[in-house]
Amino acid sequence: MKTISDLGELLGKKVLVRSDFNVPLDKNKNITDDGRIKAALPTLEKLIKQGAKIIILAHLGRPNGQIDTNFSLKPVALRLNKLLPNTKVNFCQNTIGDKPLKQINQLNNGEMILLENVRFDKRETSKDDNQRFALAKEYAKLGQIFVSDGFGVVHRKQASVYDIAKLLPSGAGELIFKEVEALNTAIQNPNRPLAVILGGAKVSDKLGVIANLLNIANKILICGGMSYTFTLAQGGKIGKSLQETDQIDNVKNYINTAQQKQVELITPIDTIAAYEFASNSNKKIVPADNIPDDMEGLDIGPKTQKIFTNTLANCKTIIWNGPAGVFEFDNFAQGTKAIAEALIKAKANGAFTVIGGGDSAAAIRKFGFEDWQFSHISTGGGASLEFLEGKKLPGLEVLS
Ligand code: AMP
Repeated sequence: MKTISDLGELLGKKVLVRSDFNVPLDKNKNITDDGRIKAALPTLEKLIKQGAKIIILAHLGRPNGQIDTNFSLKPVALRLNKLLPNTKVNFCQNTIGDKPLKQINQLNNGEMILLENVRFDKRETSKDDNQRFALAKEYAKLGQIFVSDGFGVVHRKQASVYDIAKLLPSGAGELIFKEVEALNTAIQNPNRPLAVILGGAKVSDKLGVIANLLNIANKILICGGMSYTFTLAQGGKIGKSLQETDQIDNVKNYINTAQQKQVELITPIDTIAAYEFASNSNKKIVPADNIPDDMEGLDIGPKTQKIFTNTLANCKTIIWNGPAGVFEFDNFAQGTKAIAEALIKAKANGAFTVIGGGDSAAAIRKFGFEDWQFSHISTGGGASLEFLEGKKLPGLEVLS
């Protein structure tokens, strides 16, 4: 994969950067978590230092190809100005055409401009290659070089991620480089034992990862809403818990394959069950395979927490994707918190720990843990999941 260092002298060059600024906003358009903006800074700072004229392409939310000010990147431009106090960060309401061109031509070396949400143009995410390519040609008129740094979108074949890299000399930015390096460290020749913790709501989202990691991991720990389909496949009774009955055969296959490959597959033995899907619901601890009919499992139980914690204590590489329970409800967050604490301890003892983004990353922030307590926290939940599935990601392939 080519990187910024392969792009030659950048002084005075117009460099288009694709960043991932898909940050959460509250109803007053205040950014509630600027983690993704901060993650983009190393690339921007490197380009500023080299005296490039920086033009940023990014998206926010899903405006469905329409101009919708609710999804404007203007709040991000304001935050960037604060985070880069010595750099002038301009903003342009248009993404392509004469207006951005005019503003770009006025940039001094080391200055930058953020262009409006690329997803205001429906061609950005079009399945039609010609439409996307036509839009990418418009982007290419704005700059001379392309730096791809939005890891959260590299699994998407989109105009500002994939097509543009075919039109300009291109390389990966610091964030993509770091993400790929961390994920490769975890799955290519990892320090062993390698444990993978998979949780979250849907087993169907994680089947590809399980299939690939059964060839790589020593231990796979299943938790969260997806674990109940495993319990069902093993003949358990799971009450009203989340379940995907159409996946039972798949799950049975994976359980068999794990046995054949001598991968230790650990599923919960107890669960914290609730009468209602609500934070203040009455709850009780029950065996994971004997949940009363009128209850649903919303977190792993204390015995399972202990098994998970003891298992992770001996691992040298740990990958975690998906919460162990409904961590958004304080009463059902303990299992997820215990896993986070186990990763923190493991790292302190020399293990390499990776959080695959998405809800697990949101959970550790909710608990107040710091980024440095983990070896790597991915900025791209979907992208890291596809990477772990062993898929080729278009936004990375195009840089090689
Ligand atoms: P995913 O996007 O598949 O990683 O799922 C994340 C979501 O799974 C979070 O919003 C959790 O609240 C939810 N979740 C985790 N465990 C459970 C559970 N036992 N029952 C219902 N939802 C769950």
